[in-house]
Amino acid sequence: MPDDWRRALAVVAHPDDLEYGCSAAVAAWTDGGREVVYVLATRGEAGIDTIDPATCGPLREREQRASAAVVGVSEVEFLDHRDGVVEYGPALRRDIAAAIRRHRPELVITLNHRDTWGGVAWNTPDHVAVGRATLDAAGDAGNRWIFPELAEQGLEPWDGVRWVAVAGSSSPTHAVDATPGMERAVRSLLEHRAYIEVLTDQDPEEYCRTFLTANAQAAAPRFGGRPAVAFEVFSR
Ligand SMILES: [Zn+2]
Repeated sequence: MPDDWRRALAVVAHPDDLEYGCSAAVAAWTDGGREVVYVLATRGEAGIDTIDPATCGPLREREQRASAAVVGVSEVEFLDHRDGVVEYGPALRRDIAAAIRRHRPELVITLNHRDTWGGVAWNTPDHVAVGRATLDAAGDAGNRWIFPELAEQGLEPWDGVRWVAVAGSSSPTHAVDATPGMERAVRSLLEHRAYIEVLTDQDPEEYCRTFLTANAQAAAPRFGGRPAVAFEVFSR
C-alpha cells in the first residue's frame, strides 16, 4: 500500500460502511500520524426497519462520530443525500469533488463500486453510486471548469489525489496489515450498536470480532499470510 502521503479522505454511502470495510487500516494510519477525514453521502436513516428515518438519522450520525473517534478520526461530514436512493450523477460528483477540495487529500478511500461483492452477492445501489462518483470526483476536483461554481465558493481546484483505494473489492491489488488496528476496528464497529442489535441475535462484540477477523483472514493468503485489509488501488 502506498505510504508516502499525509492526508486521506474516505467517502462512503452509509454509517458503518467504513467500519465493515477498512477501519483497522484507518487505525494504523492515524497511529502513524496521518490525517483521515470521513465523508458520508447519507445518514443511514433508512437502515433500521424498526426506527423511522427522522429518529434514525441523528442516532446513526452519533454512532458514526463515536466509531470514527475510536480509530483517530475527528472530522466526519454528511452530504445529506437520501439513504437508499442515492443517485449517481453530476450532483453527487460535485458534492464529493467539493469535499476533496476542502480537505486536499493525496489518498481517497471508498467502498466497492461494482455490481457485486464477487460472484453472485449483489451490491447495494448506494455503494455503487457513491463508489463510482468518488472515483470520478478525484478527477473532477482538479478541473476548474467541470463545476465552476465550486471555485466561486472559494474551493480552488485540487489535483493532488494520487490514488483512489476501493475497500471491499473482489479484485484487491494492495493491502494493509490488519493486526495492529484490529482491536480498535472491533470497538469502532461496535459503536454502531443500534444497527447491530437489530441485525443479529449474537452478542454484539462477538459478532463484530468474528466478522472482522474472518474478513482479514480471508485476505491473508493473497498478502503474505498475514490478516489484511485489502484494497483495489486506482492510481492517478
Ligand atoms: Zn452501506
